Amino acid sequence: MALIVQKYGGTSVGSPERIKNVAGRVAKFHAQGHQVVVVVSAMSGETNRLLALAKELSSAPDPRELDVVVSTGEQVTIGLLALALREMGVSAKSYTGGQVKILTDDAYTKARILNIDDAAIRSDLSEGKVVIVAGFQGVDADGNITTLGRGGSDTTGVALAAALKADECQIYTDVDGVYTTDPRIVPEARKLDTITFEEMLEMSSLGSKVLQIRSVEFAGKYKVKLRVLSSFEEESQGTLITVEENRNMEQPVISGIAFSRDEAKITIQGVPDRPGIACQILGPIADANIDVDIIIQNSGHDGMTDFSFTVTRGDLDKAVKVLDRVKSAIDAAVIETDKTLCKVSIIGVGMRSHPGVAAKMFRTLAEEGININMISTSEIKISVVIEEKYLELAVRVLHKAFCLGDSGGEDEE
Ligand code: ASP
Ligand code: MG
Repeated sequence: MALIVQKYGGTSVGSPERIKNVAGRVAKFHAQGHQVVVVVSAMSGETNRLLALAKELSSAPDPRELDVVVSTGEQVTIGLLALALREMGVSAKSYTGGQVKILTDDAYTKARILNIDDAAIRSDLSEGKVVIVAGFQGVDADGNITTLGRGGSDTTGVALAAALKADECQIYTDVDGVYTTDPRIVPEARKLDTITFEEMLEMSSLGSKVLQIRSVEFAGKYKVKLRVLSSFEEESQGTLITVEENRNMEQPVISGIAFSRDEAKITIQGVPDRPGIACQILGPIADANIDVDIIIQNSGHDGMTDFSFTVTRGDLDKAVKVLDRVKSAIDAAVIETDKTLCKVSIIGVGMRSHPGVAAKMFRTLAEEGININMISTSEIKISVVIEEKYLELAVRVLHKAFCLGDSGGEDEE
């Protein structure tokens, strides 16, 4: 008998029919004698609908009230799934984040989980009940409803698995695993049987939408056995996210290509090239809870320098407002923004032992006449910022150049 946490995404619970389907799958595991905790997202499209409603009434909705609104999507699905299971004769009980007591900080719309009270869940499980928990939501110390950021139900699932020391956390979605890249852009994209946490972390943070990044961080930190699989297929084993770097020489150097259209670049021209300037610029940005991605400071001339960094497009206006406030303190001349960019990244732990990967990436892009705007690297990834109109082309040519389509064929470099 195992304790399994299963998380079902929005498309998996997108209609009463699909909820019945999920109930059937949960009932099957339960009948096999497993203890099952189910985490669900809102029905597909629901969170967007709720956000749009809020926007209709307020151009800049108050974050606390916004969380009150958007957290309701998940409350609907937990109740519906509990009803469907009970209809099948399975005793099931639903919980909102607040009812479990998934304690978070008070950073509305992107709160972090601080603690999970597992007492009620454990007692229900020991009575043979299926426990259903609303994803994406928690409460802060004062009892205010918080949400964990888009895609946050994954994090609820993994955090619950960690708290309950579950044997496995299964993330059910509409794809049957993690692919080398988005098959909608590259039809030859291949499903990976395994991927390391490190690679998955990069894939998620660099734009792959399969798992929310925080869920991967959590799973890595607490060693949660994590599997991504499809709720629409019975037999697939999905993709297992492993701690082990379980690869042999024949495996490709690159495991996947991620991309993100959600890039905006801010350039501050003519800032004095003196100690502390990066901190003066980025400190207030961090204080405003804005995530900064790639940072470039050009070599100075005449005591002046240019400073560029990227943020998500949604954070751009907020970031510019912050900079307008500090502009005089940093003696900046001009603040420029660019929203026509995207980021393409190649990822693979194999990069560590294979030199020449960057050169091959840059050559491949150059051959297509794609200009590189910014570059950022880590031990296992290389990202380039390019014009958004070249995104699909870049992903396709890189997928081909690194032989990701064949079943792990040897790369010639
Ligand atoms: N319903 C939320 C969203 O759409 C959370 C989730 O689905 O994971 O972002
Ligand atoms: Mg999701």
